[in-house]
Amino acid sequence: MKKKAGKVLVVNSGSSSLKYQLFDMKTETRLAKGLVERIGSGGPANHTEALEGVVKALGSPKDIDAIGHRVLHGAEEFKDSVKVDSKVLAKLDRLVKFGPLHMPANIGGIRACQKIFKGVPNVAVFDTAFHIATMPDCAGMYAIDPRFYRKYGIRKYGFHGTSHKFITFTAAKFLRKPVSKVNLVTCHLGNGSSLAAVKGGCVVDTTMGLTPLAGLVMGTRCGDIDAAAVLSIMAAEKLSPAETDTLLNKKSGLLALTGSSDCRDICAMAAKGDKMAELALEMLAYRTALYIGAYNTIVGGADAIVMTGGIGENSDEVRRRIIARLAALGIKLDAKANAKTHGTTAVISAKGSKVPVVVMPTNEELMIARDTVRVLDK
Ligand code: ADP
Repeated sequence: MKKKAGKVLVVNSGSSSLKYQLFDMKTETRLAKGLVERIGSGGPANHTEALEGVVKALGSPKDIDAIGHRVLHGAEEFKDSVKVDSKVLAKLDRLVKFGPLHMPANIGGIRACQKIFKGVPNVAVFDTAFHIATMPDCAGMYAIDPRFYRKYGIRKYGFHGTSHKFITFTAAKFLRKPVSKVNLVTCHLGNGSSLAAVKGGCVVDTTMGLTPLAGLVMGTRCGDIDAAAVLSIMAAEKLSPAETDTLLNKKSGLLALTGSSDCRDICAMAAKGDKMAELALEMLAYRTALYIGAYNTIVGGADAIVMTGGIGENSDEVRRRIIARLAALGIKLDAKANAKTHGTTAVISAKGSKVPVVVMPTNEELMIARDTVRVLDK
């Protein structure tokens, strides 16, 4: 009989850092967590060296049953998490074009684990999979020549899928509904932010696109913008595609508007009367509310609006501003419950609210560990 994975190591391997958590999956408890930084720039030379450090930090464990890896992009190749073998690795190598910055690091982490944890199965868990598995083409395709989709895979994929999936399953339980019957608008609001429209437990739309640049106003990303505005800026400032990529992904959003990408700073600035900070918070709240309204319609009426991520879990100020714009849906805030909810699960809407608003901490690492166990048990 196959042994059920008991101890699962979760690895999130970035270009210059590696985060890990070790779980005992019999009880779903976290046994260890850590972060290795400055890979390739003064710290460990590469991901293999970084993982050797992790092995030491964990006390040279011999009893890790499986390793789950966060992978940015599965394109349409991977609509679910998958056990890694040489065929999967070859396919992953072909997907690097979808995430030239992150994918090589994600793949590097997997290869390093294969070397260091010999014989231990690796599972790839994709940020895109929960969305692409079920999102219909009417939401996922762009209105451009379909040749670009066929030739280059240009379409919407969506990200933060692991978080939206965790929230969907946890919220269904919280609402005492089977996952297959639950309709939600899940809001992951952090440094990067996205919403998902979940109908019958399945994603039918999400705000990010081909890349994480689309949708909401984020820490350093602009979110939705007229593509022609980008072309105008490129022409006027003579920017290359790479420079424009940096401008829109790293130097826009809250940072461009206020000088800080951190929501806490911006709330403090707005409280002191800073006009740009005030505008930034209203833009963030406005666009989030806009999508909540749209997605509530698309899912055929949500059973709950769920908020998570650093901002969603902690910022009562931002939540208040979003919910203030949802009165037409019959949504009412419980100001007291909102003010005291930080990082815990709680209903923050008033008793008479037509749709409950629930704050719920996400746990992407646990979701990766659960998927790892599920895939290996198949
Ligand atoms: P990431 O997307 O990098 O995982 P997080 O989900 O941790 O980021 O979210 C980071 C954001 O959460 C930052 O903008 C930070 O200011 C915000 N945040 C965290 N705690 C609070 C708080 N108590 N009040 C307001 N914003 C907060």
